[in-house]
Amino acid sequence: MAVAESLAVAPFLRSSPKKLFIGGRWVEAASGKTFATLDPSNGEVLAQVAEGDREDVDRAVKSARASFESGSWRDLPPAERARILWKVGDIIEERAAEFAELDSLDNGKPINEMLFFDVPVTAATFRYYAGWVTKLGGVTTPISFPGRYLNYTLREPVGVVAQIIPWNFPLMMAAWKVAPALACGNSVILKPAEQTPLSALLLAEVLQQAEVPPGVFNVITGFGETAGAALAEHADVDKIAFTGSTEVGKLIVKASVGNLKRVSLELGGKSPNIVFSDADLDRAASSAHLGIFFNQGEVCTAGSRLYVQEKVYDQMLGSLASTAKELVLGPGIDPMTQMGPLVSEEQMKRVLGYIDSGKKEGATLTAGGARAGGALARGYFVQPTVFAQVDGAMKIAREEIFGPVLAAIPFTDEDDLIAKANDSVYGLAAGVWTNDVKRAHRVAHALKAGVVWVNCYGPTDPAAPWGGYKQSGWARELGPNALDLYTEVKSVMMDLS
Ligand code: ADP
Repeated sequence: MAVAESLAVAPFLRSSPKKLFIGGRWVEAASGKTFATLDPSNGEVLAQVAEGDREDVDRAVKSARASFESGSWRDLPPAERARILWKVGDIIEERAAEFAELDSLDNGKPINEMLFFDVPVTAATFRYYAGWVTKLGGVTTPISFPGRYLNYTLREPVGVVAQIIPWNFPLMMAAWKVAPALACGNSVILKPAEQTPLSALLLAEVLQQAEVPPGVFNVITGFGETAGAALAEHADVDKIAFTGSTEVGKLIVKASVGNLKRVSLELGGKSPNIVFSDADLDRAASSAHLGIFFNQGEVCTAGSRLYVQEKVYDQMLGSLASTAKELVLGPGIDPMTQMGPLVSEEQMKRVLGYIDSGKKEGATLTAGGARAGGALARGYFVQPTVFAQVDGAMKIAREEIFGPVLAAIPFTDEDDLIAKANDSVYGLAAGVWTNDVKRAHRVAHALKAGVVWVNCYGPTDPAAPWGGYKQSGWARELGPNALDLYTEVKSVMMDLS
């Protein structure tokens, strides 16, 4: 491991192998096994991490169950739970440099994106849900059944919640899951992705520092097919929340059947970003650029299908190809880097495979199209890639690539556009660029997508719901909607006669 000793996160990385966090204690995997997590900018080992499996999952579920039934968290006065979650936000800000460096090294993403996006959104998510803890009341309902009744509802925590997250925004994805679940009074077991297991462990340190009681938050690092599958199947897990590929989402649903645990899913996307000829084209072009190259394109809502009205198609494409060529690639930890490596060799190969298929199917390559070489050849870097004249039937227009590859497709008018944009098994997000306010609303209403951005692409806020139509998932995270995922509603009927 060759991480600079001057980094704020150096002490955390020095204590390797990293352990599991169960019942408020750091423990080795029952098997004693560990696995390596790599720095994707050079393929070197960043740290060794405990390889949790079925037995460890079982221990974590038992500790979560014990803490839940003891009431050590859910029965705290709401204001006290709110204070603790707010404090988590404060500590994350205090330790921003460590978190930023850690995910930047482990995932590859530019450190500036961590500092200006992932870390502040993570702190804001804990604070947003801290605000909800004292407002989680029920309602009283007028009853017409003969007699006199008082009916009221209670919102109660679901119980033991398992949360499985992906590698693209390791810290922020953890916050989106953990903050609402804890706000509602649940006990949680978090499984980060095997490619990026580290920031969940640092988050465990923070929750401990903020005095979340032992057993209320547990982290199992390990692989999807073993530790993840064990969580999804476990008979004493009341709810599972998953973010990842649609393929694995379907496995989670199957695995959940045994005890009919509650399931929420945030899955893949192939989101259309739509530019009408009357739009502010400069802003649309720079936003389309970010929409596909931000976070190396490893974003479930990446604007990977760019629909441009014919009249302005050449102008937009010219501008996108030239900005793509100017992007500075490098290790995420270098503050000059604008785009980092992909998370793993496997992901790089997958993305390069899609680039090959675009070339073979006859799309016109206008930027990128290969692995980056030279000084970057040791890492998993892929050039920012733009394909023009893409046909809607091509693989690069239909499948989620999860990399820096844009498929640009021309359209004639609004009807043509709506048909093309909605022709997808996915329905996560969409962007619309137009200065015609009526058209903006018409198109926003017609798109089958859970999130629609108008004259912007990508702003996210913990208060705004997030999730997809069709095979992009079940239910909505963030906003007040996430409270429904982590509570049961109890109706209490009292005879007053
Ligand atoms: P990707 O294909 O982009 O790596 P995945 O959907 O495979 O995304 O992974 C997202 C998360 O799901 C990771 O934490 C991974 O370990 C987990 N996972 C993968 N396979 C399974 C599975 N069969 N059961 C439960 N979790 C899984």
